[in-house]
This record gives sequence, structure tokens and C-alpha cells, in this order.
Amino acid sequence: MNGYGGNILRINLTQGDIKVQPLDETMAREWIGQRGFIAKILWDELKPGIDPLGPDNLLVMSTGPLAGTLVPAGGKVSFGAKSPATGIYGESCMGGHIAAEMKYAGYDIIILEGMAAKPSYIYIEDDKIEIRDASHLWGKGAIQAEKLLKEELGDDFQICTIGPAGEKVVKYACISHDFGRQAGRTGMGTVMGSKNIKAIAICGSKSIPLADMASAVAKGKEMLKGCFAKENLDEWQDYGTAGVPVWANKIGAFPTKNFQSSYLEGNEALDGKIMREKMVINDKGCFGCPSPCGKYCYVKEYNVYTEGPEYETTALIGGNCVFTDIEQVGYLNYLCDEMGLDTISTGNVIGFAMECFEKGILTAEQVGREIKFGDVASFKYLVEQITARQGIGDILAEGVKYAAERFGGDSIKFAIQIKGLEWSGYESRSAPSNMLAYMTCDLGAHHSRAWSVTHDIAVGRKVLEGKAQKVVELQHIRPFFDLIGCCRLQWVEIGFELEHYPEVFRYITGFDYSQEDLMKISEKVWNLTRAFAWREIVDFGRKYDYPPARFYEEAVTTGPNAGDTLSKEALEYLLDDYYNLRGWDKNGLPTKEKLLQLGLGFVVQELEAMERKL
Ligand code: SF4
Repeated sequence: MNGYGGNILRINLTQGDIKVQPLDETMAREWIGQRGFIAKILWDELKPGIDPLGPDNLLVMSTGPLAGTLVPAGGKVSFGAKSPATGIYGESCMGGHIAAEMKYAGYDIIILEGMAAKPSYIYIEDDKIEIRDASHLWGKGAIQAEKLLKEELGDDFQICTIGPAGEKVVKYACISHDFGRQAGRTGMGTVMGSKNIKAIAICGSKSIPLADMASAVAKGKEMLKGCFAKENLDEWQDYGTAGVPVWANKIGAFPTKNFQSSYLEGNEALDGKIMREKMVINDKGCFGCPSPCGKYCYVKEYNVYTEGPEYETTALIGGNCVFTDIEQVGYLNYLCDEMGLDTISTGNVIGFAMECFEKGILTAEQVGREIKFGDVASFKYLVEQITARQGIGDILAEGVKYAAERFGGDSIKFAIQIKGLEWSGYESRSAPSNMLAYMTCDLGAHHSRAWSVTHDIAVGRKVLEGKAQKVVELQHIRPFFDLIGCCRLQWVEIGFELEHYPEVFRYITGFDYSQEDLMKISEKVWNLTRAFAWREIVDFGRKYDYPPARFYEEAVTTGPNAGDTLSKEALEYLLDDYYNLRGWDKNGLPTKEKLLQLGLGFVVQELEAMERKL
């Protein structure tokens, strides 16, 4: 099939069964790829109520039709499963080179079912597929394990791994690839670890058929040229997202001291320019990327090599745990990467623990030592405890929401999460649309689906009208890139125009879809993942969309937005407007009419059979 690897690889780890089945064209037409495939497969194949860490969960790896082609930055792959962090739909996207390799091996989707009896890795060399012993890799750091496996299999293999945190099923363990790229969010590394899978190694040698080769090549070249001509390309390439922390601080959006503030004194020292001078060895990009944002670094003070830190890490480790030395942030990033921990969740969890300690909710006896903000030894100690699930680490390994429920006091008010997923790196009391974007994200408090801080600034931070409309629009556009297998940062960061994508999509797949058609499919996936949460949780709805009380009860403590809160009334207004625009009911649940309009009749049937009131 044009644009696709053409096959689904299904591996039952319990039985050792390996099956290859052709990708169905209707599936491709209706769900495009990557997160569309993942959402449909998880809906069809997972029984509601299964244990996310049990053999009944699936780990689905999928890429899209533009991946591995000459379209700029067509190198994205997503992993999906029922999330052990949230109990609802989980998914995380990753760059690097493995998406292209997967297509060259002939696969659009790899499904891991069941559970291996012992530590194993998946070996894929075109049609040769094996479940191999990984006892020599078990216990190794995520990046170290990738290096070892590369040495063993050769450089032609693209490899993704988990670290010790995934092995110990820490709920926010990530999947790592290309020595520092991660599918970080919603515990996809946790699911991989629960299945006893340390790594997936892929080497492919096939080609991808294209519907109109000449036009695809011409359009791909035009797109590349278009990216190279963008004015801010050089700056983006020099700093990547490491250029963002100083800006975020200036506008009062930089999470500071467990989101007590949005402004960090001394944040200038975290600037991308300083990082470049002190640490960066090389720029690093994903497959086919015209604007490589990765920064490979040597942290001299600690004698370690690491990719990054990028913005989210600097925000959550730097700001949230109060570090103003970029080398310290680089070192702590390295620790998290080797352990296979998502830096966003880890920075939240550790910032939360530090605040609990400062407020006397946690004692030195409970923690095992004193801990404090801005102290490298405290952070390192907690990373080690969490990864090993030792002492307090066993509670913190469950995430900030669970930890707050265990620690009690007022701590649930400053456990910064939504739906159990820790908050991405933007303090949003002064950015209502961004607050709404995180509140309603299908995964929990995550930035990849919609990020709209600049919109809040452009139209007025106190303005509420029109904010929901922007969020809905972004929640269709940004995840659209996770349907097609492409990075969205060319559109987001260097202003490369969206309208190129439907055209090149047509040349590659032969599917004649307009931009509007593609956005409709994106909306369909959005509604499916929302319905997934409702299928899992009988009382799911509006109350799951509220942010922690800190954001509406406590004012920002310092900086340009000191004194700001976002009132509960404002939040209710935003949610009402948002649900209304989506065609959902007042409780934030998709209506029967909306689901049918989007072609989700199978969802209606199943929800009705479960006696959910549609
Ligand atoms: Fe990868 Fe960054 Fe390029 Fe996107 S912009 S493809 S994340 S290197």
C-alpha cells in the first residue's frame, strides 16, 4: 500500500507467537497512522478494566505514512497502551531514526501482547523476527543498554530501550532511543518493563512505495527548501528548545519551586547560549530533519555525556526543583535518562517531595535523609530511591497524585497533575487557554496536544472569550502530526506552513484528503480517546478536568505575574465553552450525536452496552 510499510507485526510474548498480517487499506484510510492506529487498536482489543501492568495490556508501537520518506522530519513513532500512570489512554511520541527503520523493515505497527517469562529483547531484521534473551542487558542504564546492543548487532540497527526504572515498573518510566530521545510520557517504558522487554532492535532494507513518486520527490524538495528559507531557522538550530527558559521566565510561565511561582531568580544562567558555551558538543537531529534541535552535551563538572537538557527538562528539573546551574541540570538530566525516567514527571515528583519536606509533611526519618530545593545530592538520592523503589521511593515511583494521597495534609492541593499525569513545563495561572489545553488533554497535563501560551499573550491574558476555540483548533492540528509520522516543530517553531502537508500526503498515499478532511480524522481520534477514558472510569467527566487547587486557590508568589490566580469560576467558564464547542455534554462526555457524526458508531454501541448514559 502506498506510503505504508504494509504490515502489522504482532508478537505474543507469553506464547512466543509471531504473526505478520497485512495492513488493511480501510484502516489506513480511516485512521491514517501512528496515534490513529494506536487509538483504534487499543479500543478494539483491550478489555475495559484490565491491569495496565498485566499481560492483558498491549504495547503498540506505530508510525505514520510520511515517516521514512523524504518529507522533512518524517521520523516520528508513537507508543501506546493503557497507561499505568493514569489508568486511561496512554501514548507517547519519539523522534530519532527508528520510525524510518520500522517502515523499511515493512511494518507500520508492532504490537506486543502478553508477557515474556524472562528479560528479553525483540530482534527484527526485515522478515526475521526473534524474541531474544536480554539477561545481559537487564539492570543496565537505558543509554548504556542501547550502546551495548549496537555493539552486538551493528550500527545498522535502530534500537529503543528501557532503563532500570522501567524494569522496576516506576509509573513514569520512558522508552529511550538514539542515545537520549525519549517517548517520555504516560509510562510507556513501564508497560515495556512489565512485559520483561528491555529493547526493540530493528534493521530494515525494503523500500516504501509512493503513489506519485515524481510529485512526492518534487514536493519533498520544495518543503525542504521552504524550511531552510525560514528566518528563525539558525536560532532554532543553535539552541533548540534550550532557547526557551529565559523567555518563559520573562513572561512569567516558568514553573518554579513546585509551581509556587512562575518566575525563577537566576534563570538567566539556564539560557541556551550559556548551555552552548559550557556544554554543547554537537547538534543532533532526527531522521530527515532540516532543523535539528537536539544538543549533544558534555557536562565537564560531572564528567558525563548527555543529550539535552531541552526546555521541558530545564523547566521541571531546573525551575521546579530550583537549580540555576545549567551543568547541574545537565547532570540530573543524564541521571534520569540513564535510569529511564521521564524528566517531566520526575521533576514534578521531586519538586513535590521537596515542598512536602519543607512544610513538614515529610520528615527526614520518612525520607531517609534531609532534602531541599536546589540541592543536587537530594535530587540524586530521590532518583536512586525512586528507580530502586526503595523506602520513600516506592511511594514516589507511583507519581505525584498517589504520593499526595499517601502523605495527606494539604499536599493534594500542590500535587501538580491532571488525571494522574504530572504537569508539563508551563505555569499557566496567567495563561487561561494553556491551562485549558492541559486540563482537557486526553493524556493528562501534557503539552504535546495543544500549547497556547503565545495565544494568551497575543489576545490578552485575562481574556477568557475565544480561548476554548483556540484550544480545540490546536488539539486537532498538533496531534495531526502524530497521525502522519512527522515532527510538528517545523510548523510550530520555524513557521513552516501547514498547507504543504495534505498535498504531500496525497502524493505519498494516493488518498485525496483536504486539510479539513485530515482535521476531521484528528477530531475523530480525539473523541475516541476521550471515550476510552469513559469506558475505563464509570464516573469519568468534568471533575477529571480540574487542575490542582494550587492554581485557583493560591496566587503566583513572585515575578511579573505575582498575585495571579485563575478563579474556579473562570475554569468553569472555560470548560463550558470547550465542551460546547466539542459537542459534548455539560459533564464533558461525548454525546451520541457527536460520536455518530464522526463515524464512531462502534463506540456508541459499546458504551450503550455498558449502560453508559449517552
Ligand atoms: Fe527531531 Fe527536533 Fe528535528 Fe523535530 S525539530 S525532527 S524533534 S531534531
